[in-house]
Amino acid sequence: MPGGSPTAVSQKSPSSSLSCPRCGLEHGLEERFCSACGFPLVYKGFERIDPQYTRGELVRVAGGRNQAEAELIQNLLLEEGIPSIVRRTAGFDVPDYLAGGPRDVLVAESAAEAAHQMLLDTDLAPPERTADTPASALRTAAVTAAIVALAILVVYLLWLAA
Ligand SMILES: [Zn+2]
Repeated sequence: MPGGSPTAVSQKSPSSSLSCPRCGLEHGLEERFCSACGFPLVYKGFERIDPQYTRGELVRVAGGRNQAEAELIQNLLLEEGIPSIVRRTAGFDVPDYLAGGPRDVLVAESAAEAAHQMLLDTDLAPPERTADTPASALRTAAVTAAIVALAILVVYLLWLAA
């Protein structure tokens, strides 16, 4: 009886399997997290990963407007030995956005600082849509307030001296 196993997948590239950056356990492509320690799996062959960057909870360090952009950030992080995972940004998990839509890039807590630093250096961390207009208005208001306060102080000191 011929046992035509459908699992006979040719392994051409080294990235046809996943491994855990934390404990090194190998997994199939259908797995996303390590069965031993729960860490997000990466493609095998990414040995540059620095073990010190695999500790702690996962935190969001950057975002991409789409999968490609997120993967670009992921590759940049990997250059520094920082493993990361890309996750669909919450709130966009609807069929229309399955192919596109924003992505979050997450790294282990121990790598967050280095990742932030690196992404700032390369100016590729798109900050979340923060309202940047009130910032300058606030600064203007602060400067105005400081000048007024200084003027009042001067007048007060002059009045004291008188
Ligand atoms: Zn593991």
